[in-house]
Order: sequence, then structure tokens, then C-alpha cells
Amino acid sequence: MNEAPVQTLLGALTQAGIAARFVGGCVRDWVLGWPISDIDIAVDKPPETVMKALEAADIKVVPTGLKHGTVTAIVKSRLFEITTLRRDVETDGRRAIVAFTDDWRTDAERRDFTFNALYAEPDGTIHDYFDGQADLLAGRVRFIGDPEQRIAEDRLRVLRFFRFHAHYGKPPFDGASFDACRRNAATVSGLSGERVRKELFRTLDASGGADAFDAMLEAGVLDHWLPEYAGSAKLRALAAREEKPDALRRLAAILPADADATAIGKRLKLSTQESVRLQLLLDPANAIDTTNRRASLYRLGTKLFIDRVLLDAPGDWRAALALAGAWTPPELPIGGNDALALGLKPGPKVGALIEAVERWWIAGDFSADRAACLAELKRLADAQA
Ligand code: ATP
Ligand code: MG
Repeated sequence: MNEAPVQTLLGALTQAGIAARFVGGCVRDWVLGWPISDIDIAVDKPPETVMKALEAADIKVVPTGLKHGTVTAIVKSRLFEITTLRRDVETDGRRAIVAFTDDWRTDAERRDFTFNALYAEPDGTIHDYFDGQADLLAGRVRFIGDPEQRIAEDRLRVLRFFRFHAHYGKPPFDGASFDACRRNAATVSGLSGERVRKELFRTLDASGGADAFDAMLEAGVLDHWLPEYAGSAKLRALAAREEKPDALRRLAAILPADADATAIGKRLKLSTQESVRLQLLLDPANAIDTTNRRASLYRLGTKLFIDRVLLDAPGDWRAALALAGAWTPPELPIGGNDALALGLKPGPKVGALIEAVERWWIAGDFSADRAACLAELKRLADAQA
């Protein structure tokens, strides 16, 4: 927040008589001394005024969400979301119609949790309207105002409650907030898969993800979106082995092996690639053969092999990880063309022959070179003729 691009931006706003404060995640993480990912700024003037002020200072600005009061400034290729203070005029549980205001506290009231409504002036002065700092330091995730009402305004807040608890919370849950989530658990079914996926993945990424999922199960929040949930034991073990979290891998850890990856992918709006990867992560056929790790590594490829080692911890899993780092599986030194060169006709038989050679090559621990593989190919072809 002290860096030059940020100061340039704040200078341009202040110059134009616009009051600007840091808000949301960046203030929360700054208070904790955690690294800050993105910087959001709140301002007390409408977006058009902000755009004019920034353009006058030669700062690139894009109207990314004018209706919601948001513009994005670009300084030295860094992006900053600048949002005008707002109040909710109308909510339907999914979206809000907002109006602009110049009152900081009013803007704070429409935010979800007390520690998400912290504002910091450019000089570091913090404005904390709902004891958010105390809650943050105590690991208390608490709705601003009446939890029941705040959830009725936006159902996503049920999932956000568990997401923020997974990152910032300490047990026990704030009773009133948890109870309201439990009572409203069924209403999250009306949300869009994209929004739900984002919250669930960010919950999985968190250090407290396993506890949060167990709590979501207890509260009934998973009934609609993840009825396949198989408990957190595997996720806990995975998290202890992982160097850094991978949400999709962690999702695989909380699902049974026979879960339908395609159905889950559709529900949570996963990309085709993600659905396929989820399927591969779950498939018992991709379990690692502890008696022949190199064969497994060859067959699965390095990335999936590492995933399955971390997920299943087969045998000496550290040695398996070390192998994946040290040994790159070779490519089979022959191909279909070599079979055709022997006079075989194109067709499924060629594929079957090459696969037979491949099995022989793997069984020999990949030591046969191209000449030896060609000889084996010829031997098998002659035996069939
Ligand atoms: P991070 O970016 O690390 O996930 P964040 O707090 O910045 O954390 P965002 O989802 O980016 O989370 O939201 C920014 C801020 O906007 C939040 O801190 C909160 O004050 C407010 N906010 C976001 N979504 C909601 C919501 N559904 N209901 C109420 N307030 C919200
Ligand atoms: Mg953010």
C-alpha cells in the first residue's frame, strides 16, 4: 500500500477532492501482517468524477462496472478497483440494486462480515465500524447486523461464512452466525454454479478447509451442491503432504472414488479440462503401483503421478515424489510407422502390436533402445503371421 503506483493513484484522487480509503481484503490482511493480493479502494464520489480525476492525471482508467460504481485504474500495469460508496436499495437473495452515497458507515453496513468492513486512510488510520479488528484477532467470523437478514439479502453469504472461517476463523463458530447459516442452508440451491464454485474452491484452499467442510456438512450446506462429500480425513492427510494447495486436487480428496466427475463438473461449472482432471484424480485405475513406480510414472505422466502420490500416499510416498522429481519418463522409441515399414497393413492390429512392445519395454524397465524395440516388434509380427 506504500508502493509508488498506489501513492500515485491516491495522490490523483486526493488532488481532485475525492476521499479514498483502502477497503476489504487488503486492510484485513494488512492488519494481520499477511501478504496482500489485490487492493480495493473505496471513494466518496461517483464513478464519473473518479474517471475524470484519473484521466486528468494521465492515469489509465476503464469503466469496468459503472452501474455498481466500479472503475478499474491501471498504474504501471497494476490494476486497482475503485468503487463508490454504496448502499443496497433492493436485494433478492442473489443480486442487489445499489445507490451511491458519501457516507462511509452506510457503505460498511452492506458488507458481509465485521472484519471485511475495515477501511484504511492513505496514512494508515483505520476505520472500524463493527469491532472488526477485535473479531479478526480473535478468529471470530461474524455477520454485520442480523445474520438472518443479511443472508436473506444474499444467499452466497452462507458459503462466504464458511470460506472466511476456513481462512481466518478459530473455533468455536460464532453461534448466531452459524445457526443462521444452518437455518438457511437449503436456500443456497438457488445460487449460480459459478459463484458457488468460487467459494467452495477458496474454502478448499484454506488452512481450515477440512473443518469448514465438516461444518458445512453438519449445517446441511452441502446437500445441494456436493451431496457426494465423503468426509475430510483424506483432505487433512493431503494438506499435510502438499507443498501448496491445489483446490481441484483437494476436491478429489473429499469425494468417493466412484463420484461422477462429469456431473460434478456440470454442477460446479468446471471447465472440460478440470472435469477430466477430476475424473483422473478419482479413478481407481490410476492408483500407483508401489511395486513398479516407474511404470506408474510413465503411464500417468509426472503431473498426475504427483497428484496421486499426494492423494493416496502409496507406500513410501516421499520416495515416490523424489522419483517424479528425478526421473522423466522416456518416450517409446518406436511407433506405428515402424510396423508399417515391416509391411503390416494399417489398422487396429498395428496399434495392438505397438502396445505389446510397449508392455515388454515397460516390463524391462525402459532399458531397451530403439534397435531392441524394433527387433521385438519384428519378433511379435512374425509370430502372428
Ligand atoms: P479476497 O479478495 O482475499 O477473497 P475480499 O474480502 O477482498 O477477500 P472479495 O470477495 O474480493 O473478498 O470482496 C471484497 C469486499 O467486498 C469484501 O471484503 C466485503 O466487504 C465485500 N463483499 C464481497 N462480497 C460480498 C457479499 N456477497 N456480501 C457482502 N459483502 C461482500
Ligand atoms: Mg478482494
